[in-house]
Amino acid sequence: MTVRLYDTMSRAVKEFVPIEEGKAGLYCCGPTVYNFAHIGNLRTFIFEDLLHRTLVKAGYSLTHVMNITDVGHLTGDGDDGEDKMEKSARESGRSVWDIAEYYTKAFFDDEKDLNIIRPDIVCKATDHINDMIEIIKKLEEGGHTYISGGNVYFSIDTIDDYGKLAKLNLDDLKEGARIEVDSNKRNPKDFVLWFTNSKFKDQAMQWPSPWGTGYPGWHIECSAMSSRYLGSHFDIHCGGIDAIPVHHTNEIAQSEAAFDQKPWVNYWCHGEFLLNDKGKMSKSSGEFLTLSLLKEKGYDALDYRYFCLGGHYRSQLKFSFESLDQARSARQTLMRRLAECSRAKADGISEGARHYLDAFYEAMFNDLKAPQALAALWSMMRDSSIPDGEKWLAALEMDSILGLSLEKAQEKEEPQEADSEALSLLEQRSEAKKAKNYALADEIRSRLASMGYKVVDTPKGATLEKL
Ligand code: AMP
Ligand code: ZN
Repeated sequence: MTVRLYDTMSRAVKEFVPIEEGKAGLYCCGPTVYNFAHIGNLRTFIFEDLLHRTLVKAGYSLTHVMNITDVGHLTGDGDDGEDKMEKSARESGRSVWDIAEYYTKAFFDDEKDLNIIRPDIVCKATDHINDMIEIIKKLEEGGHTYISGGNVYFSIDTIDDYGKLAKLNLDDLKEGARIEVDSNKRNPKDFVLWFTNSKFKDQAMQWPSPWGTGYPGWHIECSAMSSRYLGSHFDIHCGGIDAIPVHHTNEIAQSEAAFDQKPWVNYWCHGEFLLNDKGKMSKSSGEFLTLSLLKEKGYDALDYRYFCLGGHYRSQLKFSFESLDQARSARQTLMRRLAECSRAKADGISEGARHYLDAFYEAMFNDLKAPQALAALWSMMRDSSIPDGEKWLAALEMDSILGLSLEKAQEKEEPQEADSEALSLLEQRSEAKKAKNYALADEIRSRLASMGYKVVDTPKGATLEKL
């Protein structure tokens, strides 16, 4: 079955045709490790994981590359503001290197909890400074750069199609020039390739370069690392939609100019935002939710993964704890049903279950329609004509893309919320009996009965039976 993907550049869903038959090269912009990832960031990485799993299922030999941004990402998109890493280090009194190491580890802990497959290559920007310098040299040779105020800039007027990904209207941008803060720029949309003249003279991360000691701009790092591992022309580039107007636009400009390769990337795939009450969840607003916080509140990380699967990656998704509760309850019901199915045996999958598997693949292979894919799984679970053993086998096959660790249903049934409440009441009844408060013990027995449980007193203590 062919995979179809929405390509932001052409604004259309297109059949995925790889550059090299049977292979797929995927580059995903990774986290900026100056703070914990928020659950909005993690939504984007879950979407990329679905793409990874779908491409592998479709039979491609995949090379998935993700960078770690540990230098160069400024607080402002227009080369203004401070390096996010340096700011975090200054505010916390730790070194930038410590900060990078700490938050990189926290990020991969989150990814593991969310059952996100680790990309084949994870690379740090600070390990690829020479690759970046080499590309900047090529751009300089090609006449695409200028030095102003000590920094090296990319001149967007040296190419004729700047802004094509975002369909930017350059005349409008000129209008916006009045608010531009960097007076070194010839065109307000020019961007920094190499900073030698930082406002922050005591910048900890600095490297020698032909243009003086300094540090790279943010955009050049992704051009350098993607080309190092995937070559100067590759299949798919991913990120969140906020990367379209500046970061990915600038990556395209400098890469196509340096590598003399158009298009540089064949498919651009972008994940939509996770929203909270105030709009886009963001780190800079200071109000954001982390996976650790959800776990502290008693959720399983996979409840959040399930919640994300309930929305298509190209639609905005509004987060609320009510919706997360619904996701948790649906996932727990699914695990309980699968635990029952896992006890039945089947030799294989017959036509009935195959029909649902086909519907599942049809949804996932057609632009990663996870909500429809989940619906196919649920329809199968509800179909009484499908033997339980086959449901179990088909669900496990679907899980190679869903990544919900459904195989764990076999090991233990997830307790129902009602069960845990009932167990705690049973405990309270034992305490009441010990304290000879028989009136309270009887009252608790009646409450349990109203919840559908019978208390059975045994020599080893009281247990519950479903009425
Ligand atoms: P950062 O760590 O800030 O570089 O962001 C990591 C990824 O998360 C990038 O691909 C962003 O585009 C993406 N992202 C940022 N905010 C959100 C959000 N609210 N919802 C979904 N993805 C986001
Ligand atoms: Zn990037």
